[in-house]
Amino acid sequence: MVRDIIELGKIVVGRRRPMSSHQALRDRRLRAVVRNAYEHVPYYRDRFRAAGISPEDIRSADDLHKVPVTTKDDLRAAGMANTISRRVDVSGCIMRTTSGSTGKPFAVFRTRSEERTRLQFQMAALLTAGLRPLDRFVMLIAEWEAPRRLHTRLGLFQREVVRVSRPIEEQIRRLRELRPTVLWTWPSALRSLMHFVEGPFREVVNPRILITNAEILDPHLRNRVKTELDTELFNFYGACEFGRIAWECKAHEGLHINGDHLIVECVDGDLNPLPFNHTGTIVVTSLYSFAMPFIRYNLNDLGMLKEAKCSCGSPLPLMAPPMGRETEVLRLPSGRIMPPLELLNLMSSFNKVDQFRFVQEATDLLRVELVMREGRDPSTEETVRTKIRDYLKEPVRVEVVTKKDPSVSSSKFRVIVSNGGSRRSTP
Ligand SMILES: [Zn+2]
Repeated sequence: MVRDIIELGKIVVGRRRPMSSHQALRDRRLRAVVRNAYEHVPYYRDRFRAAGISPEDIRSADDLHKVPVTTKDDLRAAGMANTISRRVDVSGCIMRTTSGSTGKPFAVFRTRSEERTRLQFQMAALLTAGLRPLDRFVMLIAEWEAPRRLHTRLGLFQREVVRVSRPIEEQIRRLRELRPTVLWTWPSALRSLMHFVEGPFREVVNPRILITNAEILDPHLRNRVKTELDTELFNFYGACEFGRIAWECKAHEGLHINGDHLIVECVDGDLNPLPFNHTGTIVVTSLYSFAMPFIRYNLNDLGMLKEAKCSCGSPLPLMAPPMGRETEVLRLPSGRIMPPLELLNLMSSFNKVDQFRFVQEATDLLRVELVMREGRDPSTEETVRTKIRDYLKEPVRVEVVTKKDPSVSSSKFRVIVSNGGSRRSTP
């Protein structure tokens, strides 16, 4: 525990240092990660050689673009023996698997020390959001294995888990019993709770802090939370491969990237780095993963780096809230692509709708599924249809249907589902 406190203290103090020393630390860590990957991980050595580069070519984050982008499929195809450092004993590593929402599960290995680092910068983000040692911290999620740490045995920073896979009545009953002061959940789980709770939502749960993670947090849900609860809402972004990637601070001006442990880039369709304020695909490099390195790893998420500095004074870089999966976009007849967040922004004024889902049956046929708080309402269906058609301004037939209950799933909710996005409905 003493070691944990010292490490956490180093992270917190380190983040008060000026930008220049911050960048120097980042580049030092990058050089160490690159050298380790080249010398001990066959996959990266092969990639570097094929690209005609050596570790000496990567001196700072500005050189990172020379390294080819890696995908989950690349690592899977190379196999564990080639993607894990030859200096590491895998049997002593901690294995985590990704949620598998996009296909087969994928295993990530970290040494115990790397896992501790991951937990520390996660804790640093929670403390910035205002977590206190005696908070009743409840996670409404699918699965979670609590790390056994001394502080939890001492009754500090305890966490309870309510599983989204349990019947909704049970989730509501457990939340009433636990009365969380901090609630951590997915937007879709929150939406589904709000749909089923009869009467004021704040009588079931009214945490001081509400953190959403893993899915897009859209303005529609933000507004509802603001109206119905006395809570401060934080949007967090993470991935199994990296741990916490970015998190909102109390200034709520974007998400702070854990820039002392990760480098986040945005790239275009040809994998070239994009300037600030341009939407692209998120590519991340871990500065603390030596057992299983991730260098320029494509997360297939859409996002944007922000140039502005946060008014909180932190030197950590900012990104805009993630906009959804790159594979989960609407493809229009003109070739235009719409990310999930754009559609949800468009729908943010429909207060009586508890859930939206966009099913692309063909390039020119879009089915919009609504879940209404008080049952079907033909006039809302018509307004949604007109609003989408007017916004798209393309030859797309829009059908709107009302479903009885929201989708509740133990994997991430998909705002856009494509059943035939690459073909037309009529030949
Ligand atoms: Zn800030």
